[in-house]
Amino acid sequence: MTVVLFSWGKSIEGGTAEALTFALDQATERGAEMRWAVTAELEQEAVALAAHHGVRHVDVIDTAADGVDARVAVFAGYCRVTASDLILFNQSVEGRVIAARVAGRLGLPVLANVVALSNAGGSIKAEASAYGGDTRAEYVLSAPRNVLSVVTTGLVARAAAAPAAVETKRVSVDVGAPTAGFEVVSAPKVQAQRLEDAEIIVAGGRGLGKQENFELVKQMAEALGGMWGGSRAIVDDGWIDSSRQVGLTGKITRPGLYIAAGISGASQHMAGCSAAKTIIAINKDPDASIFRYARFGVVGDCVELLPELIRAAKG
Ligand SMILES: Cc1cc2nc3c(=O)[nH]c(=O)nc-3n(C[C@H](O)[C@H](O)[C@H](O)COP(=O)(O)OP(=O)(O)OC[C@H]3O[C@@H](n4cnc5c(N)ncnc54)[C@H](O)[C@@H]3O)c2cc1C
Repeated sequence: MTVVLFSWGKSIEGGTAEALTFALDQATERGAEMRWAVTAELEQEAVALAAHHGVRHVDVIDTAADGVDARVAVFAGYCRVTASDLILFNQSVEGRVIAARVAGRLGLPVLANVVALSNAGGSIKAEASAYGGDTRAEYVLSAPRNVLSVVTTGLVARAAAAPAAVETKRVSVDVGAPTAGFEVVSAPKVQAQRLEDAEIIVAGGRGLGKQENFELVKQMAEALGGMWGGSRAIVDDGWIDSSRQVGLTGKITRPGLYIAAGISGASQHMAGCSAAKTIIAINKDPDASIFRYARFGVVGDCVELLPELIRAAKG
């Protein structure tokens, strides 16, 4: 049996170290081999990270994989030419889409939002968040090969006791003649820095009252040298672009500091920020759910408090 994790892009995305540890644990538990399949531009970074986390096999995919359509074709092609039984993706907005499309191409079952795996007799039992993150569902994977999109926010990365000797193998994939992909009719704005990788995030919600007040969130983020984001409620209301949405159906972030202003703390929002090291919440309702996650909480009006905090942050 072989466990494969895919990574791609210009740099290694947040959550990959956790996904590697998860994949290694699955391989160890099943007496399987673990291979990390990466696109060529990640080779150097991947080899260093693999050594640190004890991953011994890195497959460098030589075939160009720019854009979602190409990645689907290349990763499905990789799975056809290499042994791969448990095919894992670090769940991101794109990862979830690619996982489903790779599974479709290979005719394999796919499961998203996976948070844990265990053994059930001879099969694998998967736990996945369901109903927008409010509950957990259990699935028994009866097929011999499965594609899983894994949520890494609740996972912990583990370094190897000693750096592993990493063996890299170059893999070329024949993707055949191009087939029609999707026609892009609109695309979210792409930021220079990804929200998923930000160390400091200031996020706003409907508690800001009106769109103009969101400027306070932007100013606070700027004063702290961080990025800004928001809840789905204000994306739906058109205050901010969907590329800034944090949560289950938005960006999965893991910053050092997450400041939530006027955000209730719905489970679907917290799915995108609960891995933050420190959450500071400002909410006028002392019973708001966000306070269950926050290390520091301020009960008060965020529209009044933010200008003070911005002044303090600017020194
Ligand atoms: C399948 C599914 C997926 C979803 N995905 C996401 C997702 O990815 N991301 C996401 O965010 N949501 C998501 N949601 C929506 C989610 O359930 C919530 O509805 C949403 O997060 C609420 O946004 P909010 O906290 O800004 O607004 P509200 O729920 O309206 O909360 C506003 C908060 O602001 C407080 N407040 C009001 N006035 C002030 C003030 N002056 N100062 C301080 N505090 C104040 C209130 O006490 C309240 O707690 C999803 C829902 C479903 C069903």
